[in-house]
Amino acid sequence: MDNIIVQKYGGTSVATPERIKNVAMRIINLKKEGKNIVVVVSAMGDTTDDLIELAHQITSNPPSRELDMLLATGEQVSIALLAMAIESMGQDVISLTASQVGIYTDNIHTRARIMDINTERILEELNKDRIVIVAGFQGINEFNDITTLGRGGSDTTAVALASVLNAEMCEILTDVDGVYTADPRIVFNSKKLDTITYEEMLELATLGAKVLHPRSVELAWQYDVPLMVRSSFNEGEGTIVTNMKLENDRVVSGVACDKNVAKASIYGVPSRAGVAYKIFSALADNGIDVDMIVQNMTRDGKTDISFTIAKENLNETSKVLKKVSEELESDGVTFESGLAKVSIVGAGMINHPGVAARMFEALYELGINIELITTSDIKVSCLVKEDRAEEAVRKLHDVFELENI
Ligand code: ADP
Ligand code: ASP
Ligand code: MG
Repeated sequence: MDNIIVQKYGGTSVATPERIKNVAMRIINLKKEGKNIVVVVSAMGDTTDDLIELAHQITSNPPSRELDMLLATGEQVSIALLAMAIESMGQDVISLTASQVGIYTDNIHTRARIMDINTERILEELNKDRIVIVAGFQGINEFNDITTLGRGGSDTTAVALASVLNAEMCEILTDVDGVYTADPRIVFNSKKLDTITYEEMLELATLGAKVLHPRSVELAWQYDVPLMVRSSFNEGEGTIVTNMKLENDRVVSGVACDKNVAKASIYGVPSRAGVAYKIFSALADNGIDVDMIVQNMTRDGKTDISFTIAKENLNETSKVLKKVSEELESDGVTFESGLAKVSIVGAGMINHPGVAARMFEALYELGINIELITTSDIKVSCLVKEDRAEEAVRKLHDVFELENI
């Protein structure tokens, strides 16, 4: 089928009945242009946060299968309400859950990955000239159990649908006008980018710019899905995420900040082959993702290793690392939260030496201590104290003159 557009509306965009009606109107206007429309919606406003909070009022450690069962209800509310709004405006429409569509995922509850999507039902409904509204963020696994895709996962539902339906565009409609040089809530003079490469966007998303779910960018890049981020409140053009590199690669395109970071360290471990393997395989076996890793210089045959993890994995990490520490007869372990990772990203960095030094200088000027550093071809990340992070983001935005981009 030709002319398919997939649109995704985020939580803020459908937070109230009024906003849902506005979104319905916007979808109907697009339909009048002759498009076949598939809409993905998130849960209304803070629904997902509230549901998580509710679960924690019952138990401090909700089983992930039941958490998914609970969280998926948020999107079922919004698809039904949006479908009602569209129907009341005289347009044929149907809402579908992931199970009704056939969005199949793996079995990893609360951060499942989409494995396959059945397009039959959607195409059947589009062929009846209906608008199809699909619940974002949710899937079903091989046991027919409900899964969710991780926070922000509705973006990934939209991109995956756009890919399997061969849509001409996947539009992510949100509460900002596009992708900015930094979070506009932190940097008031940040600039909207007209275009950004998949590669840069993937780095920014992974490093904490929550405007797109990292997995959605990965999928769009892999399957060449035309992707646009734009406002749900106005008709502005937004930001196109593309393969096209700019002629003059920007040295730095954006600054990102991730406050969901904790640090773990293990001291005085023997410096010999297999030690890092032992530590990090134990973490991996427990499903703990590790991000930044630093190993100190060896003294007297011993070394220290520090790494970062997501805050919610701190307890689990502590259990695993204490056990490994005993087995390795290390000098001890420490854990620290209240940290944030501040990063600069830019495809042009590869050809410009000295970018990292400028970043470190900027942080030094603010008297901010850097606890860990990691780099890649197109990014530099520094771990700093959380209460200094926003200041650091603003300073870096200034130093790299991103307001003039
Ligand atoms: P939605 O509910 O529509 O999915 P999100 O809250 O997940 O919206 O993502 C949009 C938010 O992402 C914006 O309100 C903004 O504060 C934040 N954000 C962080 N970094 C950026 C950036 N570089 N560009 C635009 N928005 C950003
Ligand atoms: N409702 C889910 C969340 O808040 C998914 C999404 O908004 O993309 O994380
Ligand atoms: Mg989001």
